[in-house]
Amino acid sequence: MRYSINETHNPDLISWVESANDAATDFPIQNLPFGVFRRQSDSQPTVGIAIGDMILDVAAAHAAGFYSGLAAEAAVSCKNDSLNPLMALGATHWSALRAQTSALLQKEIELGQAAQKKARTLLVAMREAEMLLPVKIGDFTDFLTSIYHATNAGQIFEPDRPLGRNFEYLPRAYHGRSSTIIVSGTPIQRPKGQIVTAPDAPPRYEPSRAFDYELEVGFYIGQSNNWGEPIAVADAEDHLFGLCLVNDWSARDIQGWEMQPLGPFLSKSTASTVSPWVISLEALAPFRRPAFTRAEDAPALLPHLYDAHNQAQGALDLNLEIHYSTENMRQAELAPALICQSSMKYLYWTPAQMIAHHTSNGCQMNIGDMFASGTVSGPTNDERGCMLELSWGCTQPYELPSGEKRCYVEDGDEIVLTGFCQRDGYRRIGLGECRSLIVPNHS
Ligand code: CA
Repeated sequence: MRYSINETHNPDLISWVESANDAATDFPIQNLPFGVFRRQSDSQPTVGIAIGDMILDVAAAHAAGFYSGLAAEAAVSCKNDSLNPLMALGATHWSALRAQTSALLQKEIELGQAAQKKARTLLVAMREAEMLLPVKIGDFTDFLTSIYHATNAGQIFEPDRPLGRNFEYLPRAYHGRSSTIIVSGTPIQRPKGQIVTAPDAPPRYEPSRAFDYELEVGFYIGQSNNWGEPIAVADAEDHLFGLCLVNDWSARDIQGWEMQPLGPFLSKSTASTVSPWVISLEALAPFRRPAFTRAEDAPALLPHLYDAHNQAQGALDLNLEIHYSTENMRQAELAPALICQSSMKYLYWTPAQMIAHHTSNGCQMNIGDMFASGTVSGPTNDERGCMLELSWGCTQPYELPSGEKRCYVEDGDEIVLTGFCQRDGYRRIGLGECRSLIVPNHS
């Protein structure tokens, strides 16, 4: 389904949930992202939709009779501890649920006014709810699609190493590990691993000294393909449910030692943190943009990666930020430092191209699989999406407002990723936050 801009994107819509009308909220009525939550007093997880600083309990709204037709079928699937049953229904159902949810949250229409009378049954305050991992994730693939990150990282490790001929031909990726994907707010223990501290010294098993964040965007597969049947670029977005923020934790010292010559292993499987709210592809319809402009001498795209519409509208205008605080900064009541402002526009490949290439050998993607973009870095110094780039491999330690310097993250540091879409004529929508606190490894 190619989503068009419709009434749910109308910037003039106002919700009876007052906090959703605040210009600064990530979750106005035009967004309506999906998540899984539980009330503190109730251990049963269920699907919710973010609206301002509240959560709409979809199953409760269905029980109160606010959904009909396809939207009612979709709402039934929301009485669940993951989004997988909803994703399995497909885009027509997702869209119907979005349209009727928009209506029941609107202030100016009768349906919304009826729902407002039942607000106490339908809504839960975010501050009183616990957000859970929203999807039962099957396989996790991590791409490497920012040409700026790929170039920088290559130069830091080996100054003379060229980007590599394959970068312009295919979206690079490796198969990751889904068991260590955790939801925002979960503290992360610094990993231990084999660490080599001098070129010819033997490795020692000890805590990583070069633990790093990576600013990424994650994508959830909502519809599978059959094994042996590649997905065409033109059809790829039919398989895409929505997106979130991902912090792909990386131990650079473990990575440098173990990737000689095979791919990432334990350096990348400590944790990958995801934001709890999944922004639907339909909510992003006003924020599409052309695919990355390739260099004039870049090779032509192979047919399985080319589609005219995808080239014209396949990328997304999504702004991304990293907010950083240390224990000292928090004690001194200093605001977190905004250390990176990047954008999804820097990705060399579109999400549809990533799906098409991933399945081009007949690989099956299943409902609930997740893939991530790779570190989203841009061309300038304040668009570097990981500390490896920001401190240039620890040759230029990064100075924080407290005067503290960082090559990599230290224990007690807290990293918050945020993201938002903004365009004239539309309501700004945000992704919420992806928050992680690093704690020491005392094991
Ligand atoms: Ca990564």
